[in-house]
Amino acid sequence: MPLEETNGIPTLVLGDIRVHIVSDGVIYWDGGGLFGLTPRTLWERVYKPDAWNRVPMHLRCLLIEADGKRILVDTGIGDKVPEKARRYISLEGEKRLITDLTRIGVQPEDVDIVVLTHLHNDHCGGNTYIDATGAIMPTFPNAEYWIQARELADAMFPNERTRATYLRENFEPLQKSGQLRVIDGDTDVVPGVWTTLTPGHTAAHQCIVVEGGGEHAVFLADAVSWGIFFERMAWVPAYDLEPMVSIHTKKRLARWALHHDAWLVFQHDARYGIGKLHEEGERLRVIPMTEG
Ligand SMILES: [Zn+2]
Ligand SMILES: [Zn+2]
Repeated sequence: MPLEETNGIPTLVLGDIRVHIVSDGVIYWDGGGLFGLTPRTLWERVYKPDAWNRVPMHLRCLLIEADGKRILVDTGIGDKVPEKARRYISLEGEKRLITDLTRIGVQPEDVDIVVLTHLHNDHCGGNTYIDATGAIMPTFPNAEYWIQARELADAMFPNERTRATYLRENFEPLQKSGQLRVIDGDTDVVPGVWTTLTPGHTAAHQCIVVEGGGEHAVFLADAVSWGIFFERMAWVPAYDLEPMVSIHTKKRLARWALHHDAWLVFQHDARYGIGKLHEEGERLRVIPMTEG
């Protein structure tokens, strides 16, 4: 069984590649936005919201050890969130991702590459931090940060709908320090690790695929952020910019996952972080492989 544990952190071992599922913690987010057009009477059976209609949203990230490199995938929401917003989303504690990385023996300066699935604030807020002088600095000083060209363009020129989540403080300091690397389309990171375009949530959203020891894993990010979005293909978050493209992407990912019996990492799911997809007659079901 390729699923191990390192100091309480789940680790997928795929041949020579180690994939640690680290986390930037849990925030509480409006269930209406997360479940989109789906009526609350249906989605509250999946997760009962609190008095403010919020459900927990995990901020999982990956730390991949492959080919002598340490590759971080996404950086969570980070610690630049203003106090009032912190209270609203019940964000607790500082340096949550850094603490998880320390548990697997990785310091910020050890990270070689940061691959960003997209530039929404809950995925790249940890790219930078505010130092003692009040300057916004790269959190991972020796890393190259990889992002799709189209995603960067959309973040640099946001519209009324995307402005609140595309924050310049998350990527501009990296442009200034020369640490931002722009990629275009599916891209190999190291042998056995690559990015693949999975549009819908944003136009150039990407997932990260790992292959080793005859096994496959995929970090689904916001293409399929909760397992239920595979089981109910019509359920699409209100945040997705192109919902029909999201559904097409989900179908494509589901076929791929079934074909490879792939390990699936769900970034925001409040019930489980890792699962596998099964076909039961006409229906798809996600079998959880971890709890919480
Ligand atoms: Zn997103
Ligand atoms: Zn997200």
